[in-house]
Amino acid sequence: MKRREFLRKSLAASMALGPLATFASPRLDSLHLVAGPEDRARYMARMLDTLCTQIGPRYAGSEAYDRSAELIAQELALAVPKTELDEFSLRAWRLLEEPIFYCGGRSLECYPAFGSAWPDQNGARGVLTRQAGAFEIVDPTSKQVTARVNISTYGRAVTGVIDPASENAHIPTICIGKQDVAFLEDAVASRSTARVHFKAEFIDDARTSNIVGTLPGETDEEILIFAHADTQYNTPGANDNTASLIIVLMLAHAFSGTRPKRTMTFMGTGSEEYMLLGAKHYVERRRAEDSLHNIKFCINFDSLTYGPNLYVHTLDEELRQIMGSIHHDLRLHNEFDPAYPIAFEYPGAVRSEAHPYAEAGIRTIDLNSRGYDEEQLPLWHRPEDTADRVPPDCVENSFLVFNEYLRRIQAL
Ligand SMILES: [Zn+2]
Repeated sequence: MKRREFLRKSLAASMALGPLATFASPRLDSLHLVAGPEDRARYMARMLDTLCTQIGPRYAGSEAYDRSAELIAQELALAVPKTELDEFSLRAWRLLEEPIFYCGGRSLECYPAFGSAWPDQNGARGVLTRQAGAFEIVDPTSKQVTARVNISTYGRAVTGVIDPASENAHIPTICIGKQDVAFLEDAVASRSTARVHFKAEFIDDARTSNIVGTLPGETDEEILIFAHADTQYNTPGANDNTASLIIVLMLAHAFSGTRPKRTMTFMGTGSEEYMLLGAKHYVERRRAEDSLHNIKFCINFDSLTYGPNLYVHTLDEELRQIMGSIHHDLRLHNEFDPAYPIAFEYPGAVRSEAHPYAEAGIRTIDLNSRGYDEEQLPLWHRPEDTADRVPPDCVENSFLVFNEYLRRIQAL
């Protein structure tokens, strides 16, 4: 029996005992895992080790993602009586060989964008030109762009994403680090040639999944709390977004064994890094099942560990005020930098994975963080985003804030 099948069957078997029996089961009280600060630190370290160090990169459609999804489902099954892998199909992408970007006698670090077209075996060749915010390699005869070279926002080369439906999806696209920009500008000035080699493939009808755990409440009204569980292909993704996903699990443990007023759904989404597919799939599925209207509140975490200042994106004034008063009441003053309030409201709409939920009229907050920018932001979508780079204070603060937030919105 495949492991996933086994998991599904064993979960179904435990559910067959009925809600009362499973509720009484000591297996479904996992509060002890997160009872005190030391328990929480230990839990975070253990899960980061499992997911980031032992498994590593977990990109959409990869076997590593599937393995991690099973482990995450097992963790959720300790906390809540109903757990499932919510599968969906995607056209996956896989890099088949190390990329090479050669210019001006040097080989530069680069990563192809996830979903990028790839050059033929001769490579993408031509003269390097400068464009707004990027470089391009242009065939001197045909004047066609043979490759696009994006520049990392924060530091060394990172991955990116190409939407296969976009206008330039046929152009092989890589990203280089900021440290190589001056060198490449000189190469443009001296009309140097450049070439890019890599091989990739698309996998039609690949499968991936969201991991969903439900704690039944007294009513069908529901609170959905989620964080993406996938990573880019070149990184263990400890800060983006594994630590935040583990905070979702910790919150599930914190409510384990209780019967809250509103049903609570804890979710890890698949394929966020590739076009937000998991969150979009789940909202459509709930719409098709005619249960989307049950979801009254939605909370989305993406990278809560870039610093002690939570970036709160919401269009809901009452929820914004609740976040503010929690910081006040828990005395979570930010002594790191008085110029940053600990709860900072990012101006503008709710973005990213939370967007379709806010669009559907669900009261949504979407969170990111800042404060340790210099140390943390250069890790983004990089191999160095490892388990040891997650700041423990951000984990503990986030747990305390959202444990309290969930209790307050339960009472609304
Ligand atoms: Zn992310």
